[in-house]
Amino acid sequence: MHNQLPHDIVYRILTHIPTFSTLDAAVRVSKHIHTAFALHPRSILTAVCQNENRDCWPAVARLVHYKLTGEFIADETQVNSILFDHEAVTTYCKYNGIIYGFVYLFRRRYTVDCAPLTLEQVDVVYRALCRLWLYQARFGKAWSQWLIESLPKSKQRTPGPLFEERKAFVKAFSMFEMLSLAAVYRFLDHELRQWLCAHDEFGFDTTDEVSGVSLELIAHELPELCQIMDYLNELSPVYVQSRKVNEDFLVYELELPDGLSKFGLEALILGCKHVSSNQCNLCHATGWHMWSCTNIAHAAGYWGSAFEFAEMFMAEDAWFDEKFSNPFVLALQEHSYWYRNLFEDVLKFAGLGPWKDQLVCDPCMRGLLINHTTECWMEKMAQLDW
Ligand SMILES: [Zn+2]
Repeated sequence: MHNQLPHDIVYRILTHIPTFSTLDAAVRVSKHIHTAFALHPRSILTAVCQNENRDCWPAVARLVHYKLTGEFIADETQVNSILFDHEAVTTYCKYNGIIYGFVYLFRRRYTVDCAPLTLEQVDVVYRALCRLWLYQARFGKAWSQWLIESLPKSKQRTPGPLFEERKAFVKAFSMFEMLSLAAVYRFLDHELRQWLCAHDEFGFDTTDEVSGVSLELIAHELPELCQIMDYLNELSPVYVQSRKVNEDFLVYELELPDGLSKFGLEALILGCKHVSSNQCNLCHATGWHMWSCTNIAHAAGYWGSAFEFAEMFMAEDAWFDEKFSNPFVLALQEHSYWYRNLFEDVLKFAGLGPWKDQLVCDPCMRGLLINHTTECWMEKMAQLDW
């Protein structure tokens, strides 16, 4: 029956299809529908991409357009003339998977047990990640080059390249959108620092040394960061020297509203789903990062390098006894599962294990580690006959 519908009616129906997978199925149904599609492919593809992305469309369109043409559209209200062709849709689909990967990591870091987000929350994070990626693509290379060249020279507080343009990019958004952008930037910075700390192959002994490197890395585009963090062996050398950095890549830090702590940025997006809204089972406090039996698996690097971790949590005598402390540092450096084993042992030693659904706040976790790390390691060495 649809074969009797005029092409312009079929066209109107196709522009209301909600996703690309449905569109793909629809144009395969009959030659008639395919012909209607082929008369106006770009406006149909654009409409479906708009439907699929809801409020994120302007951010998506601006990113894909810049990556494909090199033309930077100054603000998102000017994307109306953009029409997606097949190449743009293929690019968008590739980017979509990468961005959703980071949305998942965001959930994993800031909710308990990677709780699902509402559609609106997903949109906020997704859109902010699109904007961050565009920011990296537009400004990252110049900024990274400047950082590498200027670091060894002086401590002068000079703005990096394209400062006014970068500022204008951030300031074009509403306050909430700007803070969302700052939240995903901070999230990415955390991921990078922790990843660098967890991989002692790089030879960083302290978190300070890591911060200069993470600052250079964050100027790279999201897919590159995916590759770097996924494929450790393919990592090219990192050239940034360890030194206090004068300016942050994203200029938001200059203009955060008073009274808004950095910790509040993610909570602003996630509300009561934010990990800090939960109560610690030991001290009943809220407002802290909470450890659970799920996220403890990703704790390597959270407290700095293995060296810093051991120094922080081992008893002083034990720390200075190298025959005892060196194997501990090595075990943490070489196998991140030692962290998980240690946390489970620490909980048992404190009479609180095994770890099931307990939530333990950061200060309580630190207290447990300070009190029990040494004896846990002593027992482990005896078990392994080291
Ligand atoms: Zn607590």
